[in-house]
Amino acid sequence: MNYSRRKTIPVHAGSLIIGGDAPISLQSMTNIPVSQVKETIEQIIRLHEEGAQLVRLALRTEDDARYIKEIKKEVTIPLCADIHFNYKIALKAIEYGIDKLRINPGNIGEKENVITLVKAASELNIPIRIGVNSGSVDIKKYGEVNPQTLVASAMEHVQILEDCGFTSIVVSIKSSDLLQTIEANRIFASQRQYPIHIGLTEAGYGTDCIIASSMVIGTLLYEGIGDTIRVSMTGDPANEVRAAKRILEIGGFRFRPYTIIACPTCGRTDTKLDILQLTQEVESMVKSHFEKTLIEKHRHITIAVMGCEVNGPGEARHADVGIAGARDGKVVLFARGEKKKILKASEAVKAIEEEIHAYL
Ligand code: SF4
Repeated sequence: MNYSRRKTIPVHAGSLIIGGDAPISLQSMTNIPVSQVKETIEQIIRLHEEGAQLVRLALRTEDDARYIKEIKKEVTIPLCADIHFNYKIALKAIEYGIDKLRINPGNIGEKENVITLVKAASELNIPIRIGVNSGSVDIKKYGEVNPQTLVASAMEHVQILEDCGFTSIVVSIKSSDLLQTIEANRIFASQRQYPIHIGLTEAGYGTDCIIASSMVIGTLLYEGIGDTIRVSMTGDPANEVRAAKRILEIGGFRFRPYTIIACPTCGRTDTKLDILQLTQEVESMVKSHFEKTLIEKHRHITIAVMGCEVNGPGEARHADVGIAGARDGKVVLFARGEKKKILKASEAVKAIEEEIHAYL
């Protein structure tokens, strides 16, 4: 089944197009001070290798902006500078080659400052992301945080840029409350055609973060809302990139090279079989040996790892390659619908690898 994406105005962040007909992109953020240039470069390269398509860095001083030049020499992924309050840092970041800015124009004081910034960004075609979080809504002004006030706060900043004739805008409206985030993005999407960066803020870590982010990002993307995503996860940012990539692949928003079907196992599984370990070994083999080729050839394979001879053979037969647990620590190998042989579980990963080779 297909879903249809809302029409948005494309913006260019270096080589990355956000919105329009461009595929939904995924982004991340470094979590070390930019002044640690070597470590920052290493982290950006790692995030790029994991699948990030844009990396954001926090710049806190004008001096921080100077490092952009050095970093840009070593990386090929577009970079976004995250700046608060001081438009002069943004001007410096532009001077040193940044591809995108995240700054809220309502926080940078005088109108002339905004005009100066917009002029510099326009000259080099640098988009500006306005990012409103539940924590940044002015409670004195709006009374409380709710979807309407989140959108009103974002619109204030949008209006400032529009009044300057600037429309190369991306907007993010995030809360740690799932429904609030979903509803605010729905409201904003009905009011403007700017691309939307979606995700939660302060989503925590590990399983809870992945579940909450998947629910929000999945819901919005299935409604056609969202042009770029970030899973904001506490800890190593490589984990959030992996999670975001899988959300896009499993949700059907981008090509998925392989699917592993594995049963939860039950009392029918032979006690000498460790289905979880087998599944992990199969996935790691597919990732290291076949993922790249599958993506290049735009081919998809399904591999089933099933626990027993009762329900296992059905799934294993439907998959391109599969195994179903048998007795005495053995498994039955299936390929392209046919039963091939019975073998020891310790030989299963190698046998699956050979069958995938034959299949491809
Ligand atoms: S496939 Fe077999 S072992 Fe796995 S859950 Fe189903 S019945 Fe249990």
